[in-house]
Amino acid sequence: MERLKIAIQKSGRLSDKSIELFEKAGIKVSNNGSRLLFAEAADFPVDILYLRDDDIPQYVADGVADAGIVGENVIIETGKDINVTEKLGFGKCRLSLAVPRSVDYTGLQWFNGKKIATTYPVILKKVLQENNINADIHVISGSVEICPVIGLADAIFDIVSTGSTLLSNGLVEVEKLVYSEAALVTNKKLSDTKKEILDKLLFRIHAIAAAKSNKYILLNAPKDRLNDILKLLPGMKSPSVLPLAEEGWVSVHSVVQENRFWDIIDELRAAGAQGILVVPIEKMVL
Ligand code: ATP
Ligand code: ZN
Repeated sequence: MERLKIAIQKSGRLSDKSIELFEKAGIKVSNNGSRLLFAEAADFPVDILYLRDDDIPQYVADGVADAGIVGENVIIETGKDINVTEKLGFGKCRLSLAVPRSVDYTGLQWFNGKKIATTYPVILKKVLQENNINADIHVISGSVEICPVIGLADAIFDIVSTGSTLLSNGLVEVEKLVYSEAALVTNKKLSDTKKEILDKLLFRIHAIAAAKSNKYILLNAPKDRLNDILKLLPGMKSPSVLPLAEEGWVSVHSVVQENRFWDIIDELRAAGAQGILVVPIEKMVL
């Protein structure tokens, strides 16, 4: 029986979240990324390859791995011919231009004729071209943020998540240009069996994502206000309504979108709802 080989980051910011995703999908994967290079999942036809994140697009393009989990920043920078099958919602960051605090920054045109240090020359070149900026790209392999301090560059283009690293190097983020998150990438020519395994995996990933953005809500409502309350709760099909032991009251169960929750809650209370419980959902299959 064929198995789907999935490359994940060996040790780094994406490792734990990648393994957690498999675990939530019911796929037990060894967490021993620092020693193992390869592991078989016990209960699903998937094998895991532990690699440096920068190597993942190449391995997937070559078919050494069938799929991989890697940041969009790396996918774009390496420019390999692979499918970006699913964004995964973790490993979020952005690529930004930053300049020394002392600079009187006036806008993107400031970068004309300047020297910019980065580990993302491909993305930077593209962004500069799109904005008609003519700057000198200085490629380095790490610690980009110290370049302006030591006089190696006028500015930097780098990953920013909180901005505290920038701050401690006397830099300010002036342009947020590319947003990135981890994504599942796949080889363009998978066998039918491997496609089937991938589809099963995607089905589980979708159920996890749906569960994450929704909450299960339970509340008590006076029967005579029930209609108003039901209008506020769409549910998956329609809310469940169960009688309470106390005459004239019912219990209403439904599913609400996390991002609508705070809007709905006030309206529910105004409509007479009491004892509102909101609980996380493990998996959700529509
Ligand atoms: P490797 O040893 O595998 O090459 P790395 O040092 O290149 O690891 P990490 O720092 O572990 O990579 O980051 C992996 C990915 O995590 C990045 O490519 C990016 O997609 C994402 N990421 C999210 N937030 C950040 C952040 N604040 N800094 C760096 N990367 C981040
Ligand atoms: Zn890397």
